[in-house]
Amino acid sequence: MKPEEPKVLITEEAIRRRVADLGHRISGDYAQVENLLLVGVLRGCFIFLADLSRVLTIPRSVDFIAVASYDTSDVSTGSVRLIMDLRTDIAGKHVMIVEDIVDTGHTLSYLMSLLIPRHPASLKCCALLCKPTCLKTDVRIDYLGFEIPDAWVVGYGLDFQDRYRALPYIGIFQQREGR
Ligand code: IMP
Repeated sequence: MKPEEPKVLITEEAIRRRVADLGHRISGDYAQVENLLLVGVLRGCFIFLADLSRVLTIPRSVDFIAVASYDTSDVSTGSVRLIMDLRTDIAGKHVMIVEDIVDTGHTLSYLMSLLIPRHPASLKCCALLCKPTCLKTDVRIDYLGFEIPDAWVVGYGLDFQDRYRALPYIGIFQQREGR
């Protein structure tokens, strides 16, 4: 089985426009805040976080956290493991989790329950993508880029087995049989 080119779902231009919208909204909502700490969820967030952080017009800082919930397949195991913790003490800080995609919601739910006991001044989530039909947890996404159908998507930081992350668009990953 050989992979073929992902089928374009969201173009580079549509992503650029939506990220600019999100940046505008977040900058407005946090205009009175001294600093917003963006917490990128590695590894899929890295391009989205880079672009989002550059369209924000408010003081912001960046930290990263790494978790794993999928093994080598594309099926969520449901249990999330912490691979790398934040370096920042978030007590009293305004924090925004920046996720590439919310699928079952297990990762976001885990992160919320990990970070809330650390007493941030506020804790919200910005996700580029969400698959609403796949949600298995009651999570709240405060800022969302796009709702997408139940398909495995790649590009703009998202991978399939660590490939396709550098694609400038978001595409549906498809495998072709017998080639
Ligand atoms: P959840 O815990 O099921 O919500 O999954 C969240 C994580 O799974 C994301 O941060 C991604 O790393 C990964 N993921 C889920 N769906 C996709 C997809 O369609 N493409 C690439 N990664 C995905």
